Amino acid sequence: MILDMFKLTGKIAAVTGANTGLGQGMAVAMAEAGAKVALVGRSAMDETMRMIDAAGGESFPIKADLSDPSVTAGVIDAAVAHFGGLDILVNNAGIIRREDSINFTEKDWDDVMNTNIKSVFFLCQAAAKVFIKQGRGGKIINIASLLSFQGGIRVPSYTSSKHAVLGLTRLLACEWAKYNINVNGIAPGYMVTNNTEALRNDTERYNAILDRIPAGRWGTPRDMAGAAVFLASPASDYMHGFTIAMDGGWLAR
Ligand code: NAD
Repeated sequence: MILDMFKLTGKIAAVTGANTGLGQGMAVAMAEAGAKVALVGRSAMDETMRMIDAAGGESFPIKADLSDPSVTAGVIDAAVAHFGGLDILVNNAGIIRREDSINFTEKDWDDVMNTNIKSVFFLCQAAAKVFIKQGRGGKIINIASLLSFQGGIRVPSYTSSKHAVLGLTRLLACEWAKYNINVNGIAPGYMVTNNTEALRNDTERYNAILDRIPAGRWGTPRDMAGAAVFLASPASDYMHGFTIAMDGGWLAR
């Protein structure tokens, strides 16, 4: 039956940045769909663990600061050691720094690039090694952005990193499709999370953005749930290298 294709029963997922925001929304959705979920990040995962417990799921926290790409192999090893394997990786952890490009510092460049793209690549690599060894395929979901498609302003390292996420998603899809590994992405629009707090506190910017969203509202972590489960499930087995926009119609405008 078609709905069975969306089930994640018996699957093992790792979601980075799962303590809050979009990562929390996707981790809970995957648990609701039947996956066991490793919650990876630098902050306590208590709230997400409680939400997964309440949904009747199983989770395991893995402490890691992904601004240091050298920790990535250890993160994947820890998930495999706890759950006995890995089927799904969601690269969601990300940061943003806002400053006029003319004054942008090397630190704000490196911090964002290390977390948003360098660690993402090495997490993909470590997960793919496990997927290939297991011989049962795998799913990688990279969280991109509207700024994978547009320029934005005052976020030069963020825009560069998210354009890179889009390109990397395509490249890895091409290399690893032969192993039945699907590498795809989701580009969230303007979502209500910590990432957009500064924007939402600026009433003029908030309203200007709202006016341009065809759906007439900002998105929420729950808006990511359907696409995340789809891309993690057998329903997307023939989808390789594509990034879905979950943006209330922003890019269509
Ligand atoms: P958020 O700030 O609420 O969450 C970011 C997550 O990443 C947090 O869990 C945080 O702990 C984690 N993280 C950051 N740096 C880390 C590090 N060094 N090590 C480990 N974990 C780290 O923001 P969010 O909106 O939920 O962002 C999630 C993803 O969605 C990010 O990649 C972001 O760029 C992307 N995104 C968000 C929006 C939006 O409007 N909110 C739009 C487009 C893309």
